[in-house]
Amino acid sequence: MHLFHYANDRLFCEDVDLERVAQEHGTPTYVYSANTIRDHFRRLDSALGDLDHLICYAVKANSNRAILQLLAREGAAFDIVSGGELFRVLNAGGDAARCTFAGVGKSPDEIGYALDQQVYSFNVESIAELECINRIAAEKNVRAPIALRVNPDVAAETHRYISTGKSENKFGIALDLVRDIYAAAAKMSHVAIRGIQMHIGSQITDAKPFADAISKVAPLVAELKQRYAIEFFSIGGGMGIIYRRALESGTGKWWHDHGGESSAFSVADYASAIVPPLRELGVRVLVEPGRFLVGNAGVLLTRVRYIKKAARKTFVIVDAAMNDLIRPALYQSYHEIVPLIAPRDARVEPVDIVGPVCESGDFFAQDREMPPLQEGDLVAIMSAGAYGFVMASNYNSRPLSAEVLVSGDKFALVRERQSYFDLIRGEHDCDL
Ligand SMILES: *Cc1c(COP(=O)(O)O)cnc(C)c1O
Repeated sequence: MHLFHYANDRLFCEDVDLERVAQEHGTPTYVYSANTIRDHFRRLDSALGDLDHLICYAVKANSNRAILQLLAREGAAFDIVSGGELFRVLNAGGDAARCTFAGVGKSPDEIGYALDQQVYSFNVESIAELECINRIAAEKNVRAPIALRVNPDVAAETHRYISTGKSENKFGIALDLVRDIYAAAAKMSHVAIRGIQMHIGSQITDAKPFADAISKVAPLVAELKQRYAIEFFSIGGGMGIIYRRALESGTGKWWHDHGGESSAFSVADYASAIVPPLRELGVRVLVEPGRFLVGNAGVLLTRVRYIKKAARKTFVIVDAAMNDLIRPALYQSYHEIVPLIAPRDARVEPVDIVGPVCESGDFFAQDREMPPLQEGDLVAIMSAGAYGFVMASNYNSRPLSAEVLVSGDKFALVRERQSYFDLIRGEHDCDL
């Protein structure tokens, strides 16, 4: 579900005509729908029902302060992967006691900061990290709450860069080793065992891999609970969203069936597959959705700069580029691209939609059937709310784009477009 739709042949986000956003704030600009995010959060929360649970939003998907604030107000907890993300959450009014700290390479400074702020749990990925946390906690004379991340070795059908729950991935501790590491943790004077965690990958559209992973790890949870004060079981994030045909309404005349569409991830199927086995365990359940909450809640607005007709192809050159949204270049991912003014008829032609960056990999779509586009037209790159702006860079010395949040008929700038001076901030002259 999302709140982008055509009304009178114009593309709206909630009750805001997106052309107004482009006029006021320029392009490229990310636009997020607050009520889409709220709806996703509430649907997941209610599907988990009376199961003792905590929804820890995976901050890395989209860390804009306004979105963190919105989710904190909804009652979200947070899953963070760096000291910078903890800083953002606290700065946005989030509570450290509701933060889980994940990641394979936490630095001593990050561990110290998270201890000072008293995070809910460190999700630990190796014995080396555990020893480091114990040492730093000892220096501060505190006990660090920890969970171990187990790698359940299940196959989640997704892109290989975003699969994390197979034994060949760098993440987690193998099921047959994890008992020994819990035993080692129990002997450490400055850690306190608080839970167990797993995360099998991202953009998983089917409930089965989640259910498989839970059934593999549940016996271990039950066993550990006998021995240690296991308070929670975090089952990770990874719930997928629809990228193809992400916009169904409007004239939709130019839509083609792109084929290979994976079916929509259903919160109801997910909940009915996972809640019964989890309820039996009698521990608090943490889920860590990122993409599911924000992915379809954002678009990247961009304007067509030039149409370039080459021998075999037509290139539509837009003002957004791979530095703004790297997913197509990095994961070969598909994003629906739609004009802000609905086309009058069903005419389409295949085009490549590309950015101005000096890389052949700088494209948003190749051989895409699009309605006729002209210089100056505005288009929206759909489903760009997750892993979009957060992965942006200044490559080609392009200032980072603006971000706008829409709620109902109102919209607000939640991050300014960078200026040229921002590009050189912190650089020093030097005549060595
Ligand atoms: C990235 C990540 C998530 C969120 O993944 P999504 O696919 O965005 O839901 C959750 N937990 C951990 C440990 C992660 O690394």
